[in-house]
Amino acid sequence: MENLVIGIDVGGTKIAAGLIDRNASFIARGISHSHCGCSPDQVVAEIDQIVERLLATPNVDRSSILGVGVGISGHVHGERGIVMTNSNLPDWDYYPLRDTLKTHLGFPVVIDNDANCAAWGEYLHGAGRGSKDMCYVTFSTGCGMGIVINGRLYRGASGTAGEIGHTVVNPDGPLCSCGKHGCLMSYACGMALDRMARDCLQSGEDTLLKSVCGDCPDKVSAEQVAEAARQGDQAALRLLDLAGRYFGIGLSTIVQVLNPDTIVIGGGLVNIGPLLLEPCIKTLNENIHPVLVNSARIVMSELWNDAGVIGAGALIGEIEP
Ligand SMILES: [Zn+2]
Repeated sequence: MENLVIGIDVGGTKIAAGLIDRNASFIARGISHSHCGCSPDQVVAEIDQIVERLLATPNVDRSSILGVGVGISGHVHGERGIVMTNSNLPDWDYYPLRDTLKTHLGFPVVIDNDANCAAWGEYLHGAGRGSKDMCYVTFSTGCGMGIVINGRLYRGASGTAGEIGHTVVNPDGPLCSCGKHGCLMSYACGMALDRMARDCLQSGEDTLLKSVCGDCPDKVSAEQVAEAARQGDQAALRLLDLAGRYFGIGLSTIVQVLNPDTIVIGGGLVNIGPLLLEPCIKTLNENIHPVLVNSARIVMSELWNDAGVIGAGALIGEIEP
């Protein structure tokens, strides 16, 4: 086997990896759950071990590996190879991840923001195939975006383009992890649903959420909100409607500003389905200029959890290591 790449997706709770051929088929997979909250050095050591395990795949020679692409959350300057900040993982400010990994692994390495990687994966091998101007939006624990313009990933002046989650939609809204108030991410992601459900329980509202979370507001989750909503609970339905509407506002901003031909929606929360997506699409159409209604094809992710790994691997050759 020749011309293989290794793609790695460093998330807040796990590192997923794949040994991938040029058709985006997985030759082998690797995963680690042991890095969460660790220092950069520990993450590097973990990646080192995953790569060694992938290289032990039968019939795979070291010389057949073109390079290693790494997607990581936070502000990432891909061209400089630096993680500038990462709110999920402490101690990462201005960490030279690319060059450190290069030294450890002995391969060319490229790094980028995880949403950019997922966008690139979907554009080349997933739901964005055939598009020209595409946005990939993820709706999971947090929310993020990757932008492809005219067939190229668009990163912006310092590599942080696409931070839709931290656009302010309500200056009087709740405090966001970034220090601002009322970011889109304060309403339209899993963390936001957790918080809104907690607030609802603490307000004493009569809701099924009480029993589904075992009367423990601190443990209530977005999945439990979805479960209560499916049972017809009015409070849970209202929260999903609110999150969906804010997500729609985020999409309307994307359509107004970038006018993409395709928007790919990914992330685990999308699995909640119509209770979330119907208010989202309705709000999207209500908040854009009439000439833009239906201008973008809105499609679900095809690669789901693999998008980040496939896209990170596909970055090899896309930007100079
Ligand atoms: Zn924010």
